[in-house]
Amino acid sequence: MAESRCPDTRWAWVEVSRSAIRHNTREYKKRLARGVKLMCVVKADAYGHGAAVCAPLMAASGADAFAVATVREGIALREAEVSKPILVLSQPPATAIPDLLAYDLMPSVYTTEFALAFGEYAAAGGRQGAYHLALDTGMTRIGVPWAEAVEFRRAVDFHSGLVCAGTFTHFATADVPGDWDWELQRSHFDEAVAALRDAGFDPGLVHCDNTPSVVLHKDTHYDMVRVGIGLYGLHPCEPSRDHIDLEPAMAVRARVTRCGWPPVGTGVSYGMTWRVTTSSVQVATIPVGYADGYGRILSNRAEVLCRGRRHRQVGNVCMDQCMFAVEVNQVRQYRPCGPVEEGDLVTLMGVDGDEEITAEELAELSGTINYEVVCDFGLRLEKVYV
Ligand SMILES: *Cc1c(COP(=O)(O)O)cnc(C)c1O
Repeated sequence: MAESRCPDTRWAWVEVSRSAIRHNTREYKKRLARGVKLMCVVKADAYGHGAAVCAPLMAASGADAFAVATVREGIALREAEVSKPILVLSQPPATAIPDLLAYDLMPSVYTTEFALAFGEYAAAGGRQGAYHLALDTGMTRIGVPWAEAVEFRRAVDFHSGLVCAGTFTHFATADVPGDWDWELQRSHFDEAVAALRDAGFDPGLVHCDNTPSVVLHKDTHYDMVRVGIGLYGLHPCEPSRDHIDLEPAMAVRARVTRCGWPPVGTGVSYGMTWRVTTSSVQVATIPVGYADGYGRILSNRAEVLCRGRRHRQVGNVCMDQCMFAVEVNQVRQYRPCGPVEEGDLVTLMGVDGDEEITAEELAELSGTINYEVVCDFGLRLEKVYV
């Protein structure tokens, strides 16, 4: 285990491996034919990993462009001196137009009103506003309905302040091999792009693949792919594991802030949902709670690693802290462990010795997906880059 420096002000942190980010970026880049661009999706602060640090690492490992969810995220990337093209994966309100142009961010566009307002503002400054046309091919989230792509371009292309730099769609089921809905979305997208070309419109960069699609649907890379979760070393679905070797970039660590041997019968945490049942159990506290992304739903269900062993988290997870039990005698699956001490390293997610707690394990226990697990850990915990 890479021993990470602990932040000065709190014994809890997210550890992000720079080499994992580089490795994963190169793994995706390697799978693209020459000329196909790699757009790295760093929305939600790089899925909780810290976009200002991750984006430059990706840029140095093959990223050709970046995607964010919001204008603020785009501005933050520019402030981190990222100079590659940045696509905002949504159409912001028209009030964001000055910032889009000031920071050279491309919006995803699907209403003619927004397109024309963007073009007007750009033209007034003697510029052209570059955008990507979002097409809804079946996910029912954003985009011009795919059958209306040509109509959309006919309505806006007269404007000299606008330039369509790309045309894209997003798949709802790219993680399910052989899925019929994916086939249908793909054929709608192909049809829309062909119709644009037939009508004499340049679609710009054509792109539709997300992380699972890059390895499961190699025939739809087109001009660019948009990779998110895979860059952070997490697989979007089980079938992806057979195709690419990824290294999880995030671990979550803490140090024991207090430990003791409460008498049998002593309750632990709010509501006392767990009580000490034997005299051979030590209860240790760590400064990580649900406001740090360690969901309250994990209470009495999750496990943590300390001294290379698994221990069960006990009692309700609090907002900023939680407790775990150290069994000094063998109890069910819990191997005995010498007493832990204040300051001992605890791993809530990641590797310690032969043991590992994965984002998938926590996701399963929380009824969610690995994407949400890492995003949530990124919200408050300080990040330490190793
Ligand atoms: C989030 C997102 C992606 C990246 O998805 P992953 O599954 O993380 O690769 C790509 N495209 C769009 C439009 C997105 O919203």
